[in-house]
Amino acid sequence: MADALRPRALIAGAGIAGLAAALALDKVGYRVAVFERARELEEVGAGLQLSPNAIRALEALGLAAELQSVGVAARDVTLRSGRTGAVLARIPVEASDGTGYRSLHRAALQAMLLRAVRSRETIDLRLGAGLVDLTETERGVDLRFDGGEPETASLFVAADGVHSRAASRLGLKPPRHTGATALRYLVRRPVEPTSPGIEAWLGPRRHAVSYPLGDGESCNLVLIQPEAQPDAKGFQNWNAELRAGIDAGTALGTWPILTVDARERMMPRRHVVFVGDAAHAMAPYAAQGAAMALEDAVVLAACVSSGVPLPASLSRFADLRRPRIARVMRRVAFHRLVYHLPTPLSLARDLALAQRSPTSLRADLAWLYDWMPPRLAPLRD
Ligand SMILES: Cc1cc2nc3c(=O)[nH]c(=O)nc-3n(C[C@H](O)[C@H](O)[C@H](O)COP(=O)(O)OP(=O)(O)OC[C@H]3O[C@@H](n4cnc5c(N)ncnc54)[C@H](O)[C@@H]3O)c2cc1C
Repeated sequence: MADALRPRALIAGAGIAGLAAALALDKVGYRVAVFERARELEEVGAGLQLSPNAIRALEALGLAAELQSVGVAARDVTLRSGRTGAVLARIPVEASDGTGYRSLHRAALQAMLLRAVRSRETIDLRLGAGLVDLTETERGVDLRFDGGEPETASLFVAADGVHSRAASRLGLKPPRHTGATALRYLVRRPVEPTSPGIEAWLGPRRHAVSYPLGDGESCNLVLIQPEAQPDAKGFQNWNAELRAGIDAGTALGTWPILTVDARERMMPRRHVVFVGDAAHAMAPYAAQGAAMALEDAVVLAACVSSGVPLPASLSRFADLRRPRIARVMRRVAFHRLVYHLPTPLSLARDLALAQRSPTSLRADLAWLYDWMPPRLAPLRD
């Protein structure tokens, strides 16, 4: 399709969601401009787990080869008693078709996406250009960004994170605190020396997760606990390996865990669509926030290149994504409940887990991990 005829998409935010959306929309023939508020894309965040559904979304963006050089493959998630460290269950995490599961630094994922965006001359990335205002009209969206001329587009993708400016300008509800907070550490050795995979320690009202970052020397350690507690004191009677990891770790800071009203954010609009945390920020109990952002990007590009008018294709996107996001959020709530059970309910949980085979525990997550991306085909004249 001739360049001038290609439809234009503007994206606010160059996090995981925005960069993935840029690549996906570029792949189907949109002219894309990404406006990022930060002047530089710095190494923010800590570790991330990429489940097979996230890996397949990245493969659909053409990043299969690059993926092999970031992070490290994991075969299982090991659930342990927080108090004793005893193994409660090992859940295999590879998909039924063998697609892997990886753990890595968020910055490594963002850098990989950024390299791919920068390699595409057709994607215009502008830093220091925060979204200031937007107005949705019958024919498109009028936008203003820091330091730039007014812009218009037929498609505007709000990928500006949990504190989305786009959402506030459209009068949508602000994010809310879930009551939990994440304390993150970088640890220069495996926290649990017997396993190279994902380790989770469970206990009343809190849990901890650790996994390697793939650089051969460091692990990510996250403590999730009630927001009122600013330090790791609540873990002092926990298993010695975990405590040694906390003591040896470099504290990276605390992240209050926020969520948004995903039903409201994902109501279909004519020319504006929310993706990633701006659409459905969720607590990290199922390690799916970035994965859902990557899935959003691929599904959005498939919908808007299907040949139907934009409002109908955004409606289709909402129809496809809302039930899946709602199901993931139910799983997040289930993990929160089960991980944080007090005694004696935790004893019943441990007994129930002991009776399940790894294969049957894996089967519970088949609907999530076995997701297949749609095919991305270019728009035609
Ligand atoms: C403790 C913790 C552990 C997690 N672990 C996992 C995990 O294991 N697996 C997983 O899949 N997910 C995980 N997540 C979730 C994951 O990190 C997020 O869901 C994901 O990074 C969201 O990406 P995003 O691009 O939507 O938002 P963000 O990463 O927040 O990016 C938003 C971008 O928009 C920019 N921006 C903001 N305002 C504006 C504006 N007005 N104009 C222009 N740009 C703007 C920001 O600067 C930023 O670059 C975890 C989250 C937490 C807190």
